[in-house]
Order: sequence, then C-alpha cells, then structure tokens
Amino acid sequence: MSQEASEGIVGALLPPEELSRNAYVKSMGEYRDLYRRSLDDPDGFWAEVAEQQLDWYRRWHTVLSWDPERKEARWFEGGVLNAAYNCLDRHLAAGRGERIAIHWDPDEPGEGRTLTYRQLHEEVCRFANVLRKYGVGKGDRVCIYLPMIPELPIAMLACARIGAVHVVVFGGFSSGALRDRILDSGSRTLVCCDAGRRCGKVIPLMRNADWALRDCPGVQNVFVVRRAGVAVEMKEGRDHWWDEELAAEDIEGDCPPEEMNAEDPLFILYTASSTGRPVGVLHTTGGYLVQASITHRWVFDVHDEDVWWCAADVGWVTGHSYLVYGPLVNGSSQVMFEGVATYPHPDRFWQICEKYRVSVLYTAPTVIRSLMKHGDKWTTTCDLSSLRVLGTVGEPVSPDVWLWYRNNIGGGRCPVLDTWWQTETGGILIAPLAGATPTKPGSSGFPFPGVVPVILRQDRTEADVDESGFLCIKQPWPGMMRTIYGNHKLFVETYYSLFPDAYLTGDGCRVDADGYYWLQGRVDNVINASGFRIGACEVESALAGHQFVSEAAVVGMPHAVKGQGIYAFVILKGEYEKLDSDEVRTDLLRYVGNRIGPIARPDVIQLAAALPRTRSGKVMRGILRNIAEGKTDRLADRETLADPGVVEQLIAGSKELLDKG
Ligand code: AMP
Repeated sequence: MSQEASEGIVGALLPPEELSRNAYVKSMGEYRDLYRRSLDDPDGFWAEVAEQQLDWYRRWHTVLSWDPERKEARWFEGGVLNAAYNCLDRHLAAGRGERIAIHWDPDEPGEGRTLTYRQLHEEVCRFANVLRKYGVGKGDRVCIYLPMIPELPIAMLACARIGAVHVVVFGGFSSGALRDRILDSGSRTLVCCDAGRRCGKVIPLMRNADWALRDCPGVQNVFVVRRAGVAVEMKEGRDHWWDEELAAEDIEGDCPPEEMNAEDPLFILYTASSTGRPVGVLHTTGGYLVQASITHRWVFDVHDEDVWWCAADVGWVTGHSYLVYGPLVNGSSQVMFEGVATYPHPDRFWQICEKYRVSVLYTAPTVIRSLMKHGDKWTTTCDLSSLRVLGTVGEPVSPDVWLWYRNNIGGGRCPVLDTWWQTETGGILIAPLAGATPTKPGSSGFPFPGVVPVILRQDRTEADVDESGFLCIKQPWPGMMRTIYGNHKLFVETYYSLFPDAYLTGDGCRVDADGYYWLQGRVDNVINASGFRIGACEVESALAGHQFVSEAAVVGMPHAVKGQGIYAFVILKGEYEKLDSDEVRTDLLRYVGNRIGPIARPDVIQLAAALPRTRSGKVMRGILRNIAEGKTDRLADRETLADPGVVEQLIAGSKELLDKG
C-alpha cells in the first residue's frame, strides 16, 4: 500500500501507526526538529545524547574539539568511562542481571547457549582477569580470531574492561591476512579456537593461527577456546586452553573496570581501502559508544520487550556496533547465530526468528537475495509474526529485493530500513528511523541527527538534486574513526585529500527532491562482494604473487547474488601462457583464497595478452570496469589508448568466457 505522508512525500510507505505511537521518534516532524536542533546546537545535542546513553565516571569538559588542519577530532574530552561497565555492570546495578543478553544459536540446529547479563558479566570478568594475569594491560593490542561464538564478544568486552585494544580478525580470513593484522597492530596476545564449524564443516582456525604465528615472534600468549573438539597442537608456554584458564583457582568472577578517557582507543578493525593494503581503522571509547548505541536505539526503535537479531559477523564492523556495543549498552536481549542462512535448509533464518520470537532483524541484501533464490515456499512454514522492524546494511538494496523482504518476511507490515554506514563511521549515518520516516524502496532515507552529508562533484561544487556525486560528510560526528593505526598521514590522504573540508566516503550517491539519499556503490577501487569490502589492489597483489602471473588488474562486476563480484584480468608470464587455462584459473583461485580468504576469490578470471593502457602506460581501469560490466558500447576514450586493438581482444575474450558461464 502506498500512501502519501502528511509531510507531502509522495509514493513512500508510512510506518505502521502503532509503531510510530510508541517510538522514540514518532514522526517526520519530530525527526526534523531533532535534526535542526542537532545542527543549531551540536554540542548541546550530543551532550544530551551522551548523558542519556552512557554512565560516566567523570563528565567531559569539552564536547568536541576539531583540528581542521590535522583532521583530529576529540569528542567528550575530559570524560572518563568504561565500555564493558556500560555494556554489563550498570544493567546488573539496575536489577536487570537476569535478563537474557545473548541467545546463541549454533551452526547445527539444536541446543544453543543462553547467557544472562549476569553470566556474561562473570565470564567477561574472568577472562579480563586472565588477561591481566598474563600481563596484558591498558593500551595493549589483543588480536581475536574467532568464529561466531559467545567467547568472541566475551573476549572483546574483557579487553575493553582492562583498557586493552581489541583487533578482531574475521574468522573467514586466511593465515596470511591474520599475520598481517597481528604484525601491523603489534598484538602480543591472540585469542582463537581449535576450529570453527560452518555448514557442518570444520574450519581449522588454530592451524591457520599456527601458520600465521610462525612470522609473529612477538606473540607471547595464545588463548584457545574449545569449539569443535578437534585435536590441536598446543605450544608449551605459549598456548593456553581458555576454559582451563577461566576456571583456575586464582581467577575471580569480578574484575574492577579500568577508568578510560573518552578518547582512549577501544578497538582497531582492518578494512579494505582504495590505497591497496587493508588499513587499521582506530575507534575510541566515548564517541563510538554514543554513536553505536543511540543509532541502535533510534533507527530500529528497540525497546525492552524486543528481541534483537543482527545477523552480521562480529569480524566486521556491523557486528562490533550492532551485535556487541550498541545492543549491550542498551541492555537488549539478542540472538547471535554461528551459521549460515541456508544451512541446513533455506528456512534456517526464519526458524531462528520463530524460535526466539525475534522482533527486529538486521541483515544484508546479499543474504536476502540468496534466500529469495530458493523461492517463497521457505518463508511460509515459520511463524514470523513477532517481527516488527527489518533492516539491511552493507550494499545498495534494489527495490525488488527490498519489497520481497518487506512483503514475504515482514508480512507487509514491517518497515524496511536501509541503513548506510562504514567501518570508518563507527555507526549508522544515513537511515530511515523506524517510527518516523516514510520509506522508499531502495533509499536509505535521511541523515541521522548530527550528521551533515554533502554530495560533491569532482570540481568541489555541490551536486544538484538528483545528480550523482561523491558522498562526503561535512562535520565531525562522535563515532568517526580517529586515524589509521600508526599512519595518520595516510588517514588524511585517504579521506581528506580529494575534498579538504569533507570526509570522503568512497561511495556515490544522489539526493532526490524529497531529500531522500540513494546510495550507488563504491566509486573507488573497493569492491563490495556479498557486503564484504575487498580492495581491488589487494586481490591484484595476491594474484601478482603467483609464479605464473606477470600482471593482474581487478575490478567489480554485477553479480546476481553477491551484488558485486570480482573480475580479474590476468596476464601470464610468457613461459606459462601455454598451460591449460582452466587449470591455471583453479590454481589462481586457490592461491588467492589462501593469501586473503575465500571471500576474495575472483568470480571471473580472464587470461589476457595485454591490458589497455594510456600512452603514458597507465592501466585504464574504466575500460576494464566497462568490459566486466558488459557495457562495451560505452568504451569511449579509445584515442588515448596506446594500442586500441587490446580492447577488442579483451571484449572478445570476456564474451567467450561469460557465454561459457
Ligand atoms: P564496511 O566498512 O565493511 O561496513 O563497508 C562499507 C561500505 O559498504 C560502504 O562504503 C558502502 O559502499 C557499502 N554500504 C554499506 N551500507 C550500505 C547501504 N545501505 N547502501 C549502499 N551501500 C552500503
């Protein structure tokens, strides 16, 4: 049903009346007032939010100090708090210790695990005490390489409790990726497990960790969670079983939280960037917690009675902000799922919704597309009546997917909130608010209060209504990244060199006449495959490390399920040109999988004789992108090519490959 909202927005779907009535933000009028206030008096606005959302040991003296030259933001300076205290202790103090914090559902359907806030608190304290016992303290980096098991948030919160900085590495990454992150962050402690479980298979995480640690002599202690019950080799003196350490006699169930300054680092999370190597995005304590928790509360309109489920992996920022910090600060009850949406059957997600009476579900368009593919019959067998609000994140969502989600999963009654944000932004920046915003299928709605986006043209002027441009953010916001760990110069170059007065997101966007934001995907060398960020340069350098390869160029391509796929053009060294091309491709795929992780394996590898270059020798990526997207009628600019014949060969090769399927 399409209705005209009272604010005059034609063709948008209004939130259900009952939802609006009880919502934190009840109407577009209220949203507009809040937004105006956040711009007129940003300090007053954010101070109020920080006061409302968090418990502080000491109040801040300055809400924001911003150095526009050095691009240094300091939020809530002078404020002192502890993240784990805010996620746990204050709920116990408020008599909410018996509330369920986490319903954990394992890979194989069956017995899960339930942790109340009190139980979570005790486990966090115990592991925090273990870390302290082994000499880990404030400011030390601790790398965490775990699958989606409760020990993952427990380890993160234990770090936060003692002021250590966690560096979570996605369990799907290879040993090489893990090694690079341990070395770059200077972590001396690692938390991992014997092996993970995924779709019934065993994923050898400890073996990967062992490989990585051969090159990381600085790592002194490894804590190993027993998850899969497989045999692993424990290195005497270095490796310790998690359960034995937690149960040790000298480990107490309480651990006084470290008093942290608002600007003390909370975590580093590595993400793909246009610069080539993954960068360590650094987030600090106060501002990040404010952003993560208030967006969780207002965007999804989460109340005490809700059961929240963020289906993202904690190895990515969505899990950090909307499985760990946002919901736990807000004292929510939530689901944590170890497995995959289609295992053992394509109704697994809906079974989980029914089992725990999930009321707010947050997932990625790629997951929805993969479930749509299996047909509607899988959505009708479960009781989905508990759902109230649905969210998506990670990539643009097309109107057909949006509508399928709303109608088939949300029964036509749940608003679908397409939320835009990034690892760098710490929390949601552009999204509809569940109770307030009339939604348009495929649009992310409006900026969150306090957020000032701008769409810029290359020449630094502002784009017109409906004109696509670079999405940038003009003013600092509390959850913004503070720096690239160990390389502030690269931070400034990456995010503030194209437009010196605005943060460059790397995404294309347009704003329509009603003020709705329409995100259009990355405009740089970052590929968003299944909502996972992968640097084209990273895949290129992995390919170039293979003995057969002379050169590689990697671009994104449209993909029906993943949103974007990875398309690699590869030039082989002369002596390997005669090898069987299918075998070469298989070998390259395996190689990239081992170097970075399975998510970075190209979907298409085109073996080519040459790449299109300008006369000055620069690879013309635009042409490669158009070939990968099948837009070969748009290949302008051929005059600038050193050898126009190369393009014809590439087009023919691509067609042959794609026809072959
Ligand atoms: P990550 O830092 O891994 O969370 O990835 C952030 C990137 O995902 C953004 O720069 C966008 O390209 C993409 N993204 C996230 N949310 C959305 C959304 N709602 N619509 C379109 N793209 C999105």
